Amino acid sequence: MRGPPQELILTDDDIAEFQNLIVEGAPDECWSYSGPKMQGYGVFRASNGVRYQARKIIYAIAHGDLPPKKFVRSSCNNRGCCNAAHLYAGDTASNGRLRDARRHHDAVLAAAKVLPRKLTENEVRSIRVRVAGGVLQAELAKEYGVTRYCIEQVVSRRTWKDLP
Ligand SMILES: [Zn+2]
Repeated sequence: MRGPPQELILTDDDIAEFQNLIVEGAPDECWSYSGPKMQGYGVFRASNGVRYQARKIIYAIAHGDLPPKKFVRSSCNNRGCCNAAHLYAGDTASNGRLRDARRHHDAVLAAAKVLPRKLTENEVRSIRVRVAGGVLQAELAKEYGVTRYCIEQVVSRRTWKDLP
């Protein structure tokens, strides 16, 4: 899906909605996308009606605007990957493998700053207790500054499995 550079116009609500579609994994794993896909690439329809490639949005959130004549590529060769640490600006000639370790490292740092933060053990305990007590997951997501998906994972024990 290559084409002329597309300016991203996203509201805060768009970004929140988009982040809920990202299925977070471990920092070095590929993260998948639960929204619609075209030819394996995640696609997000913004409130202005424009469809953007998911990886372009992730790249922009983590690294800022894509330089001219560059394309968002993934070091993992997984079209649907949503882990900003696996995405970099490449040109059409690049072969998609890890070609710039430094950029990759910077991407990891940038992703950690922008994408939903990680919860602490105490927060996880408290979230489980509060959801059991009837507090809405969406409310907790807002309070803890994480995605609703993240809360759901915690509550259903798909993450933090070992925590009693
Ligand atoms: Zn990946």
